[in-house]
Amino acid sequence: MAFFLSKEYDTVICGAGPAGLMAACTLGRLTGGARRILLLDKKDPWKEPIFCAEAVSTDRLNALWPVDPAFVRGTLSGIYFTSPKRYRAEFYSKDCGLILDRARFHRSIADGCAAAGVECRYDALIKKLERVGDSWQLTVAVGGESCSISAKTVVDATGPGCRLTRGLDCLEGIESGDVDLEPGIFAVAEGIEHSREHIELFFGSEFKSGYGWIFPRDGVEVNIGFVLGKDATHEGSLRQKLLDFIARDYPQAKVKAVYGGTIACTGPESKPLAKCGLFKAGDAASCVNPISRSGIVESLLCGKIVAECVKDWLDAGTQADRERAESQALVRWMEALGKSHRQLARAKGAFNSISDRQFDRAAKRLSAMPREKQTLFRIFFNVLWACPSLIWKMRSFLH
Ligand SMILES: Cc1cc2nc3c(=O)[nH]c(=O)nc-3n(C[C@H](O)[C@H](O)[C@H](O)COP(=O)(O)OP(=O)(O)OC[C@H]3O[C@@H](n4cnc5c(N)ncnc54)[C@H](O)[C@@H]3O)c2cc1C
Repeated sequence: MAFFLSKEYDTVICGAGPAGLMAACTLGRLTGGARRILLLDKKDPWKEPIFCAEAVSTDRLNALWPVDPAFVRGTLSGIYFTSPKRYRAEFYSKDCGLILDRARFHRSIADGCAAAGVECRYDALIKKLERVGDSWQLTVAVGGESCSISAKTVVDATGPGCRLTRGLDCLEGIESGDVDLEPGIFAVAEGIEHSREHIELFFGSEFKSGYGWIFPRDGVEVNIGFVLGKDATHEGSLRQKLLDFIARDYPQAKVKAVYGGTIACTGPESKPLAKCGLFKAGDAASCVNPISRSGIVESLLCGKIVAECVKDWLDAGTQADRERAESQALVRWMEALGKSHRQLARAKGAFNSISDRQFDRAAKRLSAMPREKQTLFRIFFNVLWACPSLIWKMRSFLH
C-alpha cells in the first residue's frame, strides 16, 4: 500500500512541534511547490496533552507567527517573583506576554504547512534513519505497517532526547541534544486563587537549580509545576514532590491531571547544527533559553533559520556550497539568539548559587515597595544587593 505521495523527497521534516511545523511551513513557502517536502509526526500536533506551560513573549512570537486571538488563552501584565518564605516581588508591565492554547497554535501553523504545499502525515512513527549513499533512508511505521522513503535532506525536530540521530557515525561532532536534559513536571489544577494576568515564579532550594511556577489558564484552572536542574537530587518521585508542594501551599486545590516532560537545557555552542544534509532544529538542537527554559519561540526561530538553510542546500550547485549552507545554520542561530543564550548559560551557575536567605531578603525588600517601583532593573539590583558575591560570579554576563 502506498502511504505517501512519493518514495523520494527533497526534504523530510521529522516532528511537528513548533520547530518542525515552522521549518515545514517556511520551506514550503520559500520553495513555492517546486520541491517535494514531507512533514511527519506520530500524532496530530493539536492532540492534547501538550507538555508545556504555554507562556511566550507577545512581540517575539508576533515577529515569527502573527498572533491570532483564536490561539491565545490570555494576556499577561505581570510576573510575581516569590521567595522561599513566600515574599512576593511584582514586576508589572502591560502586555508582557501571552498564554497560548498550544493545541490551537499548532493547528494554525499546520494549516499554514498544508497551504504551502507540504505533504503532512500525522500518523507516522519514524523508526529509523540511515545514511545510504548520498541520501537519507527513513523507515516509517503507519498503522502498524512499515515502509521506506528517501530524502536528500532531513530536519530532525523530534524534540528533547532526539533518539533518531543517536549513534549515527556520519553525524559525529554534530550538536546532540541528548546530553543535558532537565526534568519538568506540572499539574492542571482548580481551586488555586490566581490572577489571570500574572505568572508566578518560585525560587529557592525547594526547586534546586530550577524554579516553580503557576501559569494561569482559563481563570478556573492553572498550570502549576516546576523544573529542576539536571543534577538536582530530590527525595521521592517528582510527582510526589509536586503534589506535596500543592497540598502545602494550596490545600484547597483539586489536581485534575499531572504531566511530566524533559527540557533541553544547554544551547548549541560550537557544534554544528547540520551535517551531510541533516539539520537539527528546536529542542533536538538544544535551542532552549537556559534560564527560563522557554523553547517555543526559540524553536520557531530555529525552525525558520534551518528551513532557509535547507533551501540554500537544495539550490546549491556544489558540495562546497552545500557545506556552507549547513554551517550557516549555526552561524545564523548564534547571531539571532545563540550568543545571548550563551551568556545566560554562564550566568546560570551564579544564579543557582543564591541562597534561600538571600532570595528572601531581596523579595522582602522589594515587596515593601509600591508596584510601579518594582522594575526589572530594581529586582535584578536587589537580588545582587542581597547576594554581593553574585556580582563577581556574574562578571562574564555583565560584560
Ligand atoms: C513541563 C514543560 C513546560 C514548558 N513550558 C514552556 C513555556 O511556558 N514556554 C516555552 O516557551 N516553552 C516551554 N517549554 C518548552 C517547550 O515546550 C519546548 O521547548 C518546545 O515544545 C520545543 O519544540 P520542538 O518542536 O523542538 O519539540 P516538541 O514540541 O517536543 O515536538 C517534537 C515532535 O516530534 C514528534 N516525534 C518525536 N519522535 C518522533 C518519531 N520517532 N516519529 C514521529 N514523530 C516523533 C513528537 O510527537 C512531537 O510532536 C516547556 C517544556 C516542558 C517539558
